[in-house]
Order: sequence, then C-alpha cells, then structure tokens
Amino acid sequence: MDLDSLLLALIPSWSSVILLLSFFVYLAIAGSLLPGKIIPGAILSDGTRLHYRCNGLVSLLLLVTLLGIGVSMKLISPTVVADKGVELLSATFVFSLLVSLVLYAAGCRSHDQCSSLKPHVTGNLIHDWWFGIQLNPQFMGVDLKFFFVRAGMMGWLLINLSVLARSIQDGNAHRSMILYQLFCVFYILDYFFYEEYMTSTWDIIAERLGFMLVFGDLVWIPFTFSIQGWWLLGNKVEITKAAVIANCLVFLIGYRVFRGANKQKHIFKKNPKAHIWGMPPKVIGGKLLASGYWGVARHCNYLGDLLLALSFSLPCGVSSVLPYFYPIYLLILLIWRERRDEARCALKYKEVWAEYCKLVPWRILPYVY
Ligand code: NDP
Repeated sequence: MDLDSLLLALIPSWSSVILLLSFFVYLAIAGSLLPGKIIPGAILSDGTRLHYRCNGLVSLLLLVTLLGIGVSMKLISPTVVADKGVELLSATFVFSLLVSLVLYAAGCRSHDQCSSLKPHVTGNLIHDWWFGIQLNPQFMGVDLKFFFVRAGMMGWLLINLSVLARSIQDGNAHRSMILYQLFCVFYILDYFFYEEYMTSTWDIIAERLGFMLVFGDLVWIPFTFSIQGWWLLGNKVEITKAAVIANCLVFLIGYRVFRGANKQKHIFKKNPKAHIWGMPPKVIGGKLLASGYWGVARHCNYLGDLLLALSFSLPCGVSSVLPYFYPIYLLILLIWRERRDEARCALKYKEVWAEYCKLVPWRILPYVY
C-alpha cells in the first residue's frame, strides 16, 4: 500500500462504520439476551456491588456461527476485516474518541452532583478525559467497561480469522500462521470460558473508564495483538519441528502459570479456606493468599501472560522485531501496572501487605525481579 492510499484508508469509510456498529449492536443484544451466569462483582467504595452476566462465550460462538453462515451463503466475504484493516482501525479510533468524550461529559455531570465522592478528579480536562471520571459507567443497564473489553477480545479473534482466510486465499497459510492462530484461538476461547474471573481484575475493580481504557480495549487489543498475523501475511517463515515443539512448550507453561494463578486468586476470594495445590492455603492477615502461585511471586499471573505473549510471537521467527511488539509492550505495561497495583494494595492492606512482601519478595519472576 503506498502512502496516498494509506492516508485515504485512514478516513473511516461508511462500510467500515456500518461493520463496526453492527458488531456493537450484535454484542449489546447478545449480551443482554443470551443466557449466562450472573456473577457478583467486587464491593465498591460506596458499598454497592455490580452484577455481571457472563455470556461472552455463547455470544462469541453464536457470532462466529452466524458469520460462518453468512460466508457460506456468500452474503459476507471472509476476508472483509483483513481487507478493510486500516479503515476499520481508523473508524474504531474515532469511535473511541467520541465515546471517551461522552464519558467525560457524563462524568462531569455526575461529579457536579456528588463531588465529595470523587476525590481522584483533578479538574484537568486532559487528565480526567484520559483516565476517566467514573469507575463503572452504565448504558441502558450494561456495564460499559465489561462491554468494551469483551468487544476488544472478540474483535481480535475476528481480525485473526479474517487474516487466516486471506492467507488461505493467497496460498500462504503455512505452519507459522497456523501455530499463531491456534494459540490465539485457544487464549481467546479460554478468556471467555473463564470470563467471570475478569470481574475481580484490576481493570474492572480499580481503573476508571476514560480514553485510555476505551482505546486500550477497542483499538489496542484487537489491532496490536494481531500484528503477528498481519506480519505473517507478507512474510514467509520456515520453522522446524523442534522449534514448533519448543514454541508449544512456552505456550503450555505460560498458560498453566497464567490460568493457575488467576484461578487460585479467584477461588481464594470466594472461599478463603479452599485448598491450594492440595493443601490448606497460607493466608496473611486473613486477607492475602501466600501459597500456590501467590507464594512464588506476587504477580505470577503476569509472568504466565508474558510467556503466552512470547509464544504468540515465536512463530514469526527472529528476522524482525515487529512481531515482538505485543510481548515488549506487555512487559512494559505489566511492570507499570504491577507498581501501581502494589501501591494500591500497600494503601489498602497496610501492614498485612508489608508482611506479604517480606514473605514473598519476588514481584513477577522469582530470583530476577
Ligand atoms: P490481578 O488479577 O493480579 O489483580 C490484582 C488484585 O488482586 C490486587 O489489586 C488485589 O485486589 C488482589 N491481590 C493481589 N495480591 C493478592 C494476594 N496475594 N491474595 C489475594 N488477593 C490479592 O491483576 P490484573 O487485574 O492486572 O490482571 C489480571 C490478568 O489479566 C493477569 O493475568 C494479567 O496478566 C492479565 N492482563 C493482561 C493484559 C493484556 O494486555 N494482555 C493487560 C492487563 C492484564 P483486592 O483489593 O481485590 O484484594
């Protein structure tokens, strides 16, 4: 693509806007109508608690089925998302910008009504728009934060499937592309299978909804996490069987640590007496889990996620740094987040947190960091 056509593609086309809005409308309808477990969220600072309908997996499977039917009836092209990649990117960016402005305005209104409840609002327009004002804004009974992260993860899968269709049509769906696709499909399906675990994560319980999160969910997740797929479309990589096995091992170890750690914390929050690795849990101050993965490092779940991210890039070989964008970005993000989470926990748990840090000195990677 030359510079002129790239610049032209950056202007959102009507067809990309329609595709994007249809996707959101589908998600809103499926999210409120399809069956799913109702999960109580964390208790908020005002003592209330939101409830989340976790029907992401069924919504995703139905969407893929409907799209499959559309493709087989030739109503929609399987490569439409891959072919309109840049247009969709700019349409999603503009959408995120608009949504975050609306959220800012709505936040200011609610802030005026109860300013004593929002000490984090600085009055600095850029800061408050970027980080958001409200913790859990709702639209027609839908929790927007939960909605956007769901849209981002599903969007990532749709982009990947479309890129795969493009590579099959181009006759270059080689081992590396298949491997990358399989890892991502597994990761995304697993995410939705365990969607209820999202309800106790940092984004949901602590981050306010502003441009940073809306952009992160809607633009960053689908478009940058799929860089490896886009890159493989234009670059052929030969990988040996030994490299495939090594790559699968990185993925499996990463998955075990990532899912195991998140699961242990989730189970502990529900039942602090539940056994961890077959033994009664070690608990500090009745509040913090210090056994299992949480006794190895204070954020072992980040370590698992980083290994997974690396495994998504390894199929691309080492000829370019571009496919390693995701693990590099995630490393920076998770180190930054770990620091912020530590500060929040130190404030919340005080001496209990200090005791935990003494008992578990490693932040993410034992003996290194
Ligand atoms: P965590 O799931 O680690 O949640 C942190 C919270 O857990 C803390 O604020 C605290 O909350 C609680 N907690 C911390 N330590 C303990 C303990 N020892 N015992 C009990 N509770 C504890 O962080 P995130 O929400 O950031 O991450 C969730 C997952 O999402 C991770 O696997 C991460 O890798 C992944 N992620 C992926 C991203 C990506 O771009 N791919 C981006 C961000 C996250 P409380 O006040 O409730 O006790």
